Amino acid sequence: MKNILNLPSPLIKLSADFLNKKEVDLWIKREDLIHPYLSGNKWRKLEFNLQEMSRQEKKGILTFGGAYSNHIYATAAAGKLFNFSTIGIIRGEETLPLNPTLSFARQAGMRLEYLDRTTYRDKEKSTEIYQTRYPGYYLLPEGGTNIHAIPGSARTVSEIREQLPQIPDYICLACGTGGTLAGIVSGLDGASRVLGFSVLKGNFHQRDIQKLLLEANIKNPQNWSINTDYHFGGYARRTSELDLFIRDFKKKYGIPLEWIYTGKMMYGVFDLIKKDFFQKGSKIVVIHTGGIFE
Ligand SMILES: *Cc1c(COP(=O)(O)O)cnc(C)c1O
Repeated sequence: MKNILNLPSPLIKLSADFLNKKEVDLWIKREDLIHPYLSGNKWRKLEFNLQEMSRQEKKGILTFGGAYSNHIYATAAAGKLFNFSTIGIIRGEETLPLNPTLSFARQAGMRLEYLDRTTYRDKEKSTEIYQTRYPGYYLLPEGGTNIHAIPGSARTVSEIREQLPQIPDYICLACGTGGTLAGIVSGLDGASRVLGFSVLKGNFHQRDIQKLLLEANIKNPQNWSINTDYHFGGYARRTSELDLFIRDFKKKYGIPLEWIYTGKMMYGVFDLIKKDFFQKGSKIVVIHTGGIFE
């Protein structure tokens, strides 16, 4: 099933005068090129969950997300590509016409149901409701983040190890739930420093990621941190400065970014390079986690 995926994903070196001047080397790991619909970190998080679904002999995946969730989109795509059924439980009320994410999901065969925000927030209760209602389905939490998301995300690191002669000093990526970051940290075994850029307001990442790492039996790694300076007002908020940066980046490097995740992270990395956050001689890999482009 994996031969339709572009793996290992390419690792591309960026060249720019300001990088030379600051004496840092910057690579971008193009997880966005893994598949047009099953892109980036969402495939990584799904991989071992799909194995787990088969092992439990379930006929499909039931999962949760907001109306613009890339995870809902990717899960629907995976169901269509690999021939299993999918149910998406969407936070809030139905809005018609369906937005592009949900209309893609429906066209891919996903059954959509809506759940009021209060019940949605109560993860235990909503899990119980749907496990009872759909016993034949494998339940996957929001964002696809759970313990089985970790080994798939760690594969990104194994690929980088094969693509670069030495492990980079820094690995940077955008963080929503932090599941991808936990997987990257687990694959590093203490090497390198992982910098997660939060795309939302709040400080819950630290706790959620620690919990996930503990659950995965990865003992208290110290080589990661979360930067909260580049959320641009919160989840799915944007500014004209961010839009301009994304347009400029595409023009200069030919690489698309979007404004929910990768645009904010890349803006943050460039800003930190300009502010001399990284020592001279640093080797930095940024993970292009994919996303949906306009
Ligand atoms: C979902 C998503 C993320 C966030 O991943 P988490 O594992 O939830 O932190 C980052 N980038 C893109 C493009 C995404 O779609």
